[in-house]
Amino acid sequence: MRATTTLILGGGFGGIAAANTLRPLLPAEHAIVVVDESPRFHVGAGKTWIMLGDRTPEQVSQSRIALLAPGVRFVEASVRSIALADRTVLADSETLRWDFLVIALGADLNLAAVPGLAEAAHTFYTVEGAQRLKPVLDRFSGGDVAILIPKAPFKCPPAPYEAALLLHAAFERRGLGGRTRLAIHTVEGAPMATAGAEMGEYIKGELASRAIGFFPQRRASRVDAATKRVAFEDGSEARYDLLIAIPPHEAPIAVRDAKLVDPSGWIPVDPTTMEVRHPAHAGEIYAAGDVTLVPLPGRHKPDVALSLPKAGVFAAAHGRVVAHQIAARILGRAPDEAFDGKGYCFLETGGGRAVKADGSFFELPHPLMRKRTPDEAQLRDKAEWVERLLRPLR
Ligand SMILES: Cc1cc2nc3c(=O)[nH]c(=O)nc-3n(C[C@H](O)[C@H](O)[C@H](O)COP(=O)(O)OP(=O)(O)OC[C@H]3O[C@@H](n4cnc5c(N)ncnc54)[C@H](O)[C@@H]3O)c2cc1C
Repeated sequence: MRATTTLILGGGFGGIAAANTLRPLLPAEHAIVVVDESPRFHVGAGKTWIMLGDRTPEQVSQSRIALLAPGVRFVEASVRSIALADRTVLADSETLRWDFLVIALGADLNLAAVPGLAEAAHTFYTVEGAQRLKPVLDRFSGGDVAILIPKAPFKCPPAPYEAALLLHAAFERRGLGGRTRLAIHTVEGAPMATAGAEMGEYIKGELASRAIGFFPQRRASRVDAATKRVAFEDGSEARYDLLIAIPPHEAPIAVRDAKLVDPSGWIPVDPTTMEVRHPAHAGEIYAAGDVTLVPLPGRHKPDVALSLPKAGVFAAAHGRVVAHQIAARILGRAPDEAFDGKGYCFLETGGGRAVKADGSFFELPHPLMRKRTPDEAQLRDKAEWVERLLRPLR
């Protein structure tokens, strides 16, 4: 058997799961290389905690090398280009060759996609953004807080709603409730629309019970930092004292340049194997996580096609599936794992409570999501999940 190299681009949820699942499946002569431009792995779910000062970035992150199984090589470098024809990737100045390629580069966040947004908005979607927002919130003494979702899809569909509930609780605690109005302006038709109407109604109910405004189907056209106004395509406007945005997401430039995306802007994959279909590389290129578009078989509305939400639990599941697919190819046997569309998410509701919702996204006639009543135990589950993700392997 010829020794192979599996090159994994991105060492986040998807990349780490792919590498760590694949390593014990293959003899040591088969190389596994993970490339990431940053040395630390951050758990997205910890970013609202950073924003609120409940955790430091160090407490919700870990050295990427420590999280990779022994026998996986880590290259700290930026992926500049992906050459499919000659099976290479340029990572800074190093040219890396691959027999199997896994693209797990996540989504790039681009506040500049809406004119004026970058100058006007804070965001908790990055660690740096959440760190910058914390002192702003500490100094905040009341007014209009607008949470803006200008583009979908975005990672972790519950996160903006969770942030609104957590900010509401924090403002109440500080006695700012009477002087503060929170509102969510979103391009979406409903919160977590892929999960179904019941979940959307539940979240809308939680917002309404706290008098948090919810304005769906609003497409932001520009933001004016001087007058503190967001203009929407339908001619309406929203005034704010503090603007918090979910940055528009897009596939990383190296992925777009390699012509791996379809008109959705994301990499289309086989929904069960995560294979990227390519005529010259059958069975050799896979993608995992936020960078993908995973079509769903079911629909809530006959004319609206659905795709899998972007979330770390799914990215990790994809990574595991991809590892089994590649191991099967190398070892010449049938793969023993396929992606089943199942996953879960946590929604913190404030006051030390959270709700865990279990989703089954390949169901017919439409995806299903089941949730329990929020309580302290489910928040402990979330904290333990984050802790497990950060436990070093070496
Ligand atoms: C506020 C917030 C809350 C969230 N809460 C949850 C939650 O409760 N549950 C959940 O499941 N998910 C949650 N998520 C979503 C989750 O973080 C993402 O869906 C997940 O990180 C996707 O994994 P991934 O492997 O596809 O991408 P990532 O984890 O983003 O990994 C991609 C990696 O690629 C690297 N990279 C990118 N471009 C390059 C390049 N050109 N060169 C080299 N390296 C590059 C990046 O450094 C990164 O490490 C949340 C996200 C946010 C922002």
